[in-house]
Amino acid sequence: MIIDGKAVSEKILAAVSKEVADSGLTPCLATVIVGDDPASQMYVRMKHKACDRVGIKSVGVVLPGTSTTGEVVNAVAKLNADDSVHGILVQLPLPNGIDTEAVIESVSPEKDVDGFHPYNIGQLFSGRPEFVPCTPGGIMTLLAEYKIDTKGKKAVVVGRSVDVGRPMAALMINADATVTVCHSKTDNLADEMRKADILISAIGRAKFVKPDMVKEGAVLIDVGINQDENGKLCGDADFEAVKDKISAITPVPGGVGPMTIATLMQNTLKAARILSKN
Ligand code: NDP
Repeated sequence: MIIDGKAVSEKILAAVSKEVADSGLTPCLATVIVGDDPASQMYVRMKHKACDRVGIKSVGVVLPGTSTTGEVVNAVAKLNADDSVHGILVQLPLPNGIDTEAVIESVSPEKDVDGFHPYNIGQLFSGRPEFVPCTPGGIMTLLAEYKIDTKGKKAVVVGRSVDVGRPMAALMINADATVTVCHSKTDNLADEMRKADILISAIGRAKFVKPDMVKEGAVLIDVGINQDENGKLCGDADFEAVKDKISAITPVPGGVGPMTIATLMQNTLKAARILSKN
């Protein structure tokens, strides 16, 4: 079974669009981009486009790559203080020399629609999630849509980044899975991966996941965005090689990626609803 993230994301965007129209609110997402990294610019453009589609207002703050940490923090502080802004997203990675943690911590937790602020990460790990990082949040929505049971299942997350691997593990714990987190220092990685009923690969290595690393009938969630030897977009999984061994897989493109942006729209609407009640 192919888990169609594109189709599910379309459904979510349509639902958010209707909710925005019915709410009478004008949710607003502010993006902050520092420097002129083309990939970051592309991601931010996609986020603004999604906002346009669902009726969320978006504003973009663009700072030069030479900005100091203090200048970025000041720009975020202005957005924190602006009542017309409900969600703030600082596009990562930030240029070298900027203290990424300080910038993330400067975002008001109640406008932290990326869910990266230590307060929101802490709430997630405490089992009381408020704003959940968009990629793992989107994966949980996909699992729910496809009625993939997590309770009591063995989930193996490969990757321990703060944006994907760690929050993914917390969400799986909260969803009653038994969770193992692997990374580049894991001994006998393939042995660990083969134990997974649900294998989530977020490492960023093209076609890394081979048939001998997956259990027969496993669900494989492929978060990776890579280029293969011909420069073609591909995931962490060697899709053609593993597809007959597993029971379900997210393709790349069209799997996890579209869910990330759809979840960002959900988070922004949620922030607008919460802040408007204040
Ligand atoms: P990071 O580079 O921050 O983290 C990668 C993780 O993978 C690290 O924990 C690293 O281990 C681990 N890792 C790397 N190589 C290996 C290996 N050979 N064996 C085992 N573990 C390994 O990346 P992100 O978490 O930000 O992203 C991961 C992938 O997901 C990338 O391809 C990225 O483009 C994609 N992505 C996709 C999104 C989407 O919307 N679809 C959103 C975000 C990311 P260690 O900690 O030991 O270094």
